[in-house]
Amino acid sequence: MKIESLVIHGGIDGDERTGAVNVPIFQTSTYKQSAFGVNSGYEYSRTGNPTREALEKLISELEHGYAGFAFASGMAAITAVITLFKAGDKIIISNNIYGGTFRVLDKIFKNFNIGYIIADTTNLAEVKKSIDKTVKAIYIETPTNPLMDITDIKAIADIANDNDILTIVDNTFMTPYLQTPITLGADIVIHSATKYLGGHSDVVSGLVVVNTENLAEKIRFIQNSTGGVLAPFDSFLLIRGIKTLAVRMDRHNANGETIAKYLNDREEVSKVYYPGFHDHPGYEVQTRQANGYGGIISFVIKNGYDYKKFLSSFKLITFGESLGGVESLICHPASMTHAAIPAEIRQKVGIVDNLIRLSVGIENSDDLIEDLVAAFKASK
Ligand SMILES: *Cc1c(COP(=O)(O)O)cnc(C)c1O
Repeated sequence: MKIESLVIHGGIDGDERTGAVNVPIFQTSTYKQSAFGVNSGYEYSRTGNPTREALEKLISELEHGYAGFAFASGMAAITAVITLFKAGDKIIISNNIYGGTFRVLDKIFKNFNIGYIIADTTNLAEVKKSIDKTVKAIYIETPTNPLMDITDIKAIADIANDNDILTIVDNTFMTPYLQTPITLGADIVIHSATKYLGGHSDVVSGLVVVNTENLAEKIRFIQNSTGGVLAPFDSFLLIRGIKTLAVRMDRHNANGETIAKYLNDREEVSKVYYPGFHDHPGYEVQTRQANGYGGIISFVIKNGYDYKKFLSSFKLITFGESLGGVESLICHPASMTHAAIPAEIRQKVGIVDNLIRLSVGIENSDDLIEDLVAAFKASK
């Protein structure tokens, strides 16, 4: 089945008992055991719930994995994956990784002696050089948030394989419609499904997909032991959101390209970060490993223009955190999504104060441009 059909019919397609075209919301915490030691395959909903399971099967199929797992947020999913490691282990992370991922490593896992090494993962020599006996995984995001750096997933997975360590990819920005890291050699894929997979800014959720039975057993054990599971209703919302993933991502791609070109022509803008531009350093890798450039664009407003006024002037585009919804969202990474990253690291990697991130929604692009025109006017 092709992905446009799989998003609708993958996983568990409807309900066998009633013929309902949608998987029911099994709003139950526990299950009747018909006799001593005999159960239906379900015992308790932290361990397993049919609605959650339908979603887990769906994401696993979409990512070409062995098994999928649903969590109460992207951070719960990331936390579960990091608990695969032990005191003394280290993880190599991309240098402009999602702020919350950096925070959980730096402020929580550091206390348990699970360390991290920051590397520019677009630079393979630097990644190779960072590996020592304590390093157990390479954790990447591509494109990165918010600077849209592109890492070569296959090249990273090859390096990881050579060193017998794991490749973990946060695939939130691309979704399996545009990029399937497991087919490029990754071991674990993570999603903040809050973003494009849910797609409607109405559910906080996270997903993990693994490529082997061994990893599946470990993550299943962690999921059940630590308990950050996704609720049945939220699992239903996610299944519902994923059904329209293909049509939404096509429009995000198209609008993204239109808006990126528009921004590139504005005199108020000194730089546009968009991997669909031929002169983007990651253009060739992105074109090879993904089926599109997505809907996230970051740009720098020139000194002399008031970025605070700019951000406060939108009528259609929403000024707020998050991304990947049907509605366009604009944010200020330095004070919002990436505030947890120390200022000197932010400056060093390019998350400057006049950097703006735009998640282009699926509205009519003329309306979005009209809103941008007014905001640029207000910034003068
Ligand atoms: C939002 C986000 C997360 C965290 O997910 P939550 O659902 O907010 O917990 C992780 N990674 C990326 C790339 C994100 O954009």
